[in-house]
Amino acid sequence: WKPRGHPTRNILFNKYEIGKLLGQGNFAKVYHGRNLLSNESVAIKVIKKERLHKKDKLVKQIKCEVSVMRLVCHPHIVALKEVLANKAKIFMVVDFVKGGELFAKASKGKMNEDVARKYFQQLISAVDFCHSRGVTHRDLKPENLLLDENEDLKVTDFGLSALPDQRRSDGMLVTPCGTPAYVAPEVLKKRGYDGSKADIWSCGVILFALLAGYLPFQGENVMRIYSKSFKADYAFPDWISPDAKHLISHLLVVDPEKRYSMPDITKHPWFQVGFMRPIAFS
Ligand code: ADP
Ligand code: MG
Repeated sequence: WKPRGHPTRNILFNKYEIGKLLGQGNFAKVYHGRNLLSNESVAIKVIKKERLHKKDKLVKQIKCEVSVMRLVCHPHIVALKEVLANKAKIFMVVDFVKGGELFAKASKGKMNEDVARKYFQQLISAVDFCHSRGVTHRDLKPENLLLDENEDLKVTDFGLSALPDQRRSDGMLVTPCGTPAYVAPEVLKKRGYDGSKADIWSCGVILFALLAGYLPFQGENVMRIYSKSFKADYAFPDWISPDAKHLISHLLVVDPEKRYSMPDITKHPWFQVGFMRPIAFS
C-alpha cells in the first residue's frame, strides 16, 4: 500500500491508478488501470495530443472512434466506459480484457479447427453487428482481437473505423487504410470500396492465419504483399479441412461483388457447426 500522492503512484483525475503498459499500436499506448473507488480493473488508451500532427484529421478520427464505440454495444466488442482529457492527452477508459491479443495465440502456429471456429464465429457476430449499425472497422487483425478470461473474443481498436457519413453518395468509402497483410485489394485501388466487403476480406485473412499458423499473403516488403493479395495468390496447407478451405476460398476473392457477404458466411456449413448468435442488448 502506498499513501495517496506517493510519487510512484500514477493517479489520473483522482479516479484511476495507472498501472503497467498492456500494449501499443500505431496511435496509442494502452495501460492497465484501477478504479480507486470500486477497485475495478480497466484499460486506459492514452493518445498524446502532440501525436495529432495533422490535428484536425486526428481529432475527427478520435471523435469517430468514440462515437463508434458508443454505438456498438455487443458481447464481443470491447465496451467504452468514459473518455477523459487534459491539455496533453486523451484517455479512453474501456473494459480490461485479461487474456491478451489473439495474435499471441495465432503466432504460436496452427490452431485446432474447433477453437478457430469459435473465435471466427465470435468475430463474425461482432463485425456483422457493426455493419448492421453502419460501422465499418477497417483494421481487423489479430492484434485488435482480444481474449477475455473465458477465452471469448472481443473486438477492439475502432481508430480507423468509418461511419456512414464518411461514405460517398454511392455508399462507397474512399480513404485507403488498414494493415498491408490484412487489407482488401479494392481498398488500395482508390476507386471507392464497400466497407463491409473489405472487412470480410480481413476476416478471411484472419481465419486463414488461425488455421494455417501463418499469413496467406507474405513478402519482404509491402509491395510484395500487395502483389500477392491483388491476385489472391495463396496456397492452403493440407491440414485444413475441405469445408474450411471452401469458406476461405470464398472470402479471399479479389472481386468484392463475388466475395461472400455476411449472410453467405453465417449460412456456410463450416461456420454453422455449434453456432449460437450472441444477443446484443442495445
Ligand atoms: P492502436 O489504435 O494504437 O492500435 P489499440 O486500441 O489497438 O491501439 O491498443 C493497442 C494494444 O493495447 C492492443 O493491441 C492490445 O494489446 C492492448 N489493449 C488494447 N485494449 C485493451 C483492453 N481493453 N484490455 C487489454 N489490452 C488492451
Ligand atoms: Mg491496434
